[in-house]
Amino acid sequence: MDAPAAVIESPIVTDRALEALRRVFGYDAFRGLQREAIAAVEAGRDALVVMPTGSGKSLCYQLPALYLPGACVVVSPLISLMRDQVAALAASGVAAAYLNSSLDAGEARAVEERFRRAELDLLYVAPERLVTERFLALLESTPLALFAIDEAHCVAQWGHDFRPEYLELALLRDRWPAVPRLALTATADPPTRREIVERLLAPGAATLVAGFDRPNLRYRVVDRETGSGQLLAFLRREHPGESGIVYRRTRAGVETTAASLAAHGVDAIPYHAGLDAETRRRHQDRFRAGEGVVVVATVAFGMGIDKPDVRFVAHLDLPESLEAFYQESGRGGRDGEPADSWLAWGLQDLVLARSRIARSEADEARKRVERAKLEAIVAYCETAGCRRQVLLRYFGEEPPGSCGACDNCLAPPATWDATVEAQKALSAVFRTGQRFGAGYVIDVLRGEATDRIRERGHDRLSVFGVGGEHSAIEWRGIFRQLAARGLLAADEEGYGTLALTPEARPVLRGEASVRLRELRRAEGGRKRQRKGEKERPALLAVAGAAARFERLRELRRELAGEQGVPPYVIFHDATLEAIAAEAPATLGELAGLPGIGEKKLERYGERVLRVLREERAGEAADGG
Ligand code: ADP
Ligand code: ZN
Repeated sequence: MDAPAAVIESPIVTDRALEALRRVFGYDAFRGLQREAIAAVEAGRDALVVMPTGSGKSLCYQLPALYLPGACVVVSPLISLMRDQVAALAASGVAAAYLNSSLDAGEARAVEERFRRAELDLLYVAPERLVTERFLALLESTPLALFAIDEAHCVAQWGHDFRPEYLELALLRDRWPAVPRLALTATADPPTRREIVERLLAPGAATLVAGFDRPNLRYRVVDRETGSGQLLAFLRREHPGESGIVYRRTRAGVETTAASLAAHGVDAIPYHAGLDAETRRRHQDRFRAGEGVVVVATVAFGMGIDKPDVRFVAHLDLPESLEAFYQESGRGGRDGEPADSWLAWGLQDLVLARSRIARSEADEARKRVERAKLEAIVAYCETAGCRRQVLLRYFGEEPPGSCGACDNCLAPPATWDATVEAQKALSAVFRTGQRFGAGYVIDVLRGEATDRIRERGHDRLSVFGVGGEHSAIEWRGIFRQLAARGLLAADEEGYGTLALTPEARPVLRGEASVRLRELRRAEGGRKRQRKGEKERPALLAVAGAAARFERLRELRRELAGEQGVPPYVIFHDATLEAIAAEAPATLGELAGLPGIGEKKLERYGERVLRVLREERAGEAADGG
């Protein structure tokens, strides 16, 4: 009989895991599926762990690595990610190192030597290096506790990040059958999951899948008008001085938006595949280490980034699919603190996307899939209901109710009976011959007698000037919604020419009515105060906490500078907030706060307390 398809019935982990979680990392309880994953490792079993970004996948292997005999070998495709993780582990006093092409021969030999002497609890390595004979011989030289294979979806051949070198990792199973393997990923649909298990893990491997929801992300969609102007207003109002990512579809778009933000005083830098490697590396480093840097990027930016304190991800163009959107927006809030997903889109996006699909080399089956993906992301943008529900349902989950945290939940959009407007719009498209884009038809509706319109005699049509009651921007919103609902279709050459679809007929004949959403401007959604009065986590509402937080941030910058690591390696925002709120007076009190493990207490404790003492003295003096 086959081994049962592996669910772990009683995830009993030893006290060692919990003890290490508290002592080394300063956290009280497991999160998500950490307990289940660690239980699998302790039982010597393979497991696939699918948990969303920011939910704590790394501790699933970092914890057992600390107390199980032997080393944990972590396969990771990304150099910057290895560097960050090793720096963060070192700050917590964990013996970890990496081997990759950024080390020179001498440095690499030193790491190998430490590994051979069993001094390392964790060794990070790129997949292509792992499968070299030299590295495999090194692995033979030392007892191993477990293998962790990060970004495991890269092994899936039809997936979006396929890396051929991942296929070779199958040899781990053959050569070290007794060493448990954890394969980890944030995104894997059921076929990808099966592929990962089949290719990398033992037959009875457990599959542990957490939900897709990212409760700390807040979703919002606005109708694009000025684009950059709306973005700037959003940044100023809600994220002054905070790190974020702005996605644009094209390199030119990246350059324009980055320049426009920079001209308005935002610390913005561009990132796209057209920049030389040195510039890309410099910009990526600035973003990683900085506290208020906004990177404007094409989708080329992201895989190597696990900066935890990204406070917003903005899209100024329609993303390609809901999967892409989920992954890109998911780069916000990895530290579990609130982050915004903000998306601005317009009719033009739909026009371009349709023509891109039509003109691609793909076969008809593939094009059908892409059209369905486009429809899904448009449905997300156009919904009047909860956006999180749309997103989660797409990934096969049935959310229990509305989320209460997206724009539509916070301020349900008003709808209005737009039947008459829809009839005017559709018949104007029809009477002008279904050969023009929205801009031209709107001019006709609004009675603008431009040269082009007069030349064609369209100023004599019955529809000329029947739409004067709405501004051009309002009409754009109406056209976009009509297109999004399939009453109008854009041509496939990308000219933006609109034509009626069969669905338009009943509306024109007065047999069907149309309700549309009111336009949502950038100002919609949550109300926030201006800079300085920015909404802070509840913790910082305690008297004096906000000032302490700012002082602690300075200290963190200082410490980060001294050690040449990004600030979040020293303390996460959540830890700083807890310190600011509690204002501990002794090392003992400080030790009780989340994110303060033994080593951080020893290294930074005194300096944190000194800052708090100075703040107290300052307050007393101010108070007279
Ligand atoms: P992922 O790899 O899944 O994106 P990380 O492993 O980087 O996520 O963890 C995300 C954040 O959650 C980190 O700031 C980490 O310190 C924190 N974290 C992880 N596990 C716990 C826990 N059990 N309790 C509190 N915080 C945790
Ligand atoms: Zn919602």
